[in-house]
This record gives sequence, C-alpha cells and structure tokens, in this order.
Amino acid sequence: MTVLVTGGAGYIGSHMVHALVEAGESVVVIDNLSTGFSAFLPEGVPLFIGDAADENLVEGVIAAHKVESIIHFAGSVVVPESMRDPLLYYRNNTMTTRSLLNAAVKSGVNRFIFSSTAAVYGTPDQVPVAEDAPTRPLSPYGSSKLMAEIMLHDVAAAHGMNHVVLRYFNVAGADPQARIGLATLGATHLLKIAVEAATGQRAKVDVFGTDYPTPDGSCIRDFIHVSDLAQAHRAALAYLRGGGAPATFNCGYGRGYSVLETIEAVRRVSGRNFVVQYAPRRPGDIMTMVADTSRIRSALDWTPQYDDLDTIAAHALAWEEKLFRERHGEPEHAVSA
Ligand code: UDP
Repeated sequence: MTVLVTGGAGYIGSHMVHALVEAGESVVVIDNLSTGFSAFLPEGVPLFIGDAADENLVEGVIAAHKVESIIHFAGSVVVPESMRDPLLYYRNNTMTTRSLLNAAVKSGVNRFIFSSTAAVYGTPDQVPVAEDAPTRPLSPYGSSKLMAEIMLHDVAAAHGMNHVVLRYFNVAGADPQARIGLATLGATHLLKIAVEAATGQRAKVDVFGTDYPTPDGSCIRDFIHVSDLAQAHRAALAYLRGGGAPATFNCGYGRGYSVLETIEAVRRVSGRNFVVQYAPRRPGDIMTMVADTSRIRSALDWTPQYDDLDTIAAHALAWEEKLFRERHGEPEHAVSA
C-alpha cells in the first residue's frame, strides 16, 4: 500500500510527503532533483534520483515497493519560461506524464492524482471559475498540463485509471514548522518576492499593473496554503480509495486578494517597510483568478486550516528567514519609508 510521489523533493511535493508520513502512509519518492532538495524529505523515505519519465525506473520502484497509488508533481512550472521554451514544457509535463501513465498501466497501478493548474482556464468568462468552465490556456505551461489532463481522461476510459485532477490556484506559504518551503532561486511568485524584500534580499517589490478595473487597480489572486493543498491531495487519495469516480477539483479558498493587499500582509506580519513600486502590467497576466471551490468542499473530506492571508504570509516569512540564515548568516532587514 505504498504511495509513489513524483517530484516529492520539490516545494509542493515535499509538503505532500511530510503529510503522508505524518498520516502513517508508506511513501516512496522519485525526483531528479532539478529543482528539489533531498534534504526536504523526512528521514527514512526512500528517494530514487531519476526522471518520472524513465519507465524502467518507475516500473522497478512500483514493483519493489508495492505501489498502489501515484501522486504526480514532477514537472516544470514557470509560465514565462514556457513561452520561451515550449518544447521543454511539452516534454517535462506532457510527455513525462505520458511515460508515467504507461508505466502505471503496465504495472497495474490504477490510482493517480495529477497536479494541474488554474492556467488551463486562461481568461475566465466569469469568476469565481468553476471546473466546467471552458479551458483556453494562454501559455505552453497551461497547454502542457491540459494535454496531460486529456490523456488521463482517455487512459481512464481505456484502462480504468481512477484519478483526480487538482487544479491549483496560487500556492503559497510554507510548512508551519518552517522545515520546508519554497527554496527556488530566482522565483517569480508574488509572496516569495515580497518576503525576499522583507528579509532585505531585494531592494523593492514591483507591482505589475495598477490600472486594472479592480477595487485597488492591481490583479486579484486566490492564494492557497501549501499545507492545505497537501491535505487536499490526502483527501483526494481517500476519495479514490473509497471508490470515488474520476474527478477534477479546483484547489483554492474561493477568496481573492489583490496584489497590493498581499504585499500589505507581508509588511504587516514582518513589521518591515520595504519599497513598493508601481510598474507596467506584466504581459500575459490574468486580471482576476478566484476558484469556485464548491465542488472540492462537497466531494472531498477537506477542511482548510490556514485560510488566512496573514498566516500564509507569516509562514512564508518564517521559512524565508530560516533559508536566509542558512545561506548567508543573519538577515539584514531593509528599512525604508
Ligand atoms: N506580481 C507582481 N509583482 C511581482 C510578482 C508578481 O505584481 O514581483 C503580480 C503578478 O503580476 C500577478 C500576481 O502578482 O498579478 C500573481 O503573480 P504570480 O507570479 O505570483 O502568480 P500567477 O498568478 O502569475 O501564477
């Protein structure tokens, strides 16, 4: 009854592995460590360093560890990078999922949870956006994930692959105990940028667009705490084990915060006043992305624990401070008007 987690040494995957281990599950990880860290894994969890697209490796791990379910995180996640190098994304996201599914089918594993994204929706006709809204991705990243969703749907029809697709909105925060968090260098995510500024690692935060027709002119996002997201996967696993039919769920809280409100939350919890500069709109940004969460809340046994922007910001900050201390010694806090 082992769960295979691909990308289990990465940001979201490692929170998943910790959550599974804490729930008493047997876990095995495949990660090529391209963006993950072996130190993020709890002690005793077997790590196979390699590619989730390596069918021999995957089949060997499934057989040796009696894998009964796969949670597939491994992939590439940076939208602008996908614009510059689309084929990388079709390989790392679409083709890797194809290989992994092939290995799963051959090995008789018939439970699969897939990390997808709100980027599959593109610009929604209405918000909050529900799972049956049209899918019109605006980036190779979104398209590469949508193609994998389509494959999964077809594999389910042909081979009885029981699966759940989870479409993540804006994943943020870190382990409440600050054991793990987002450690990618050069990350572009808003909360990461803001806590880097709050710890003196950046001179300022740019707000990309303050002329949107929103209450304060900046974009609006639905942030979900990474630990709540991991628990959503556990709930999805319980759903599949209980015989639940293939399903797609949005993962967010159903509540939007503006970019300016988000930066303000980091200022508030850190007590540090860093420079915030208004900048032009970032190409490709969607104005408002908020999940309709009625489906996940009714179908899965999932109750978020950290549905609070200040808590998310505080956990992201605590992790960033720890990371900074580990990398550079004590932080030099930026103080400015
Ligand atoms: N954003 C910003 N400044 C930054 C990084 C992001 O104003 O330094 C904005 C970005 O334009 C978007 C929102 O914050 O409106 C969320 O961006 P992020 O890259 O975190 O996630 P996305 O929603 O694009 O997946």
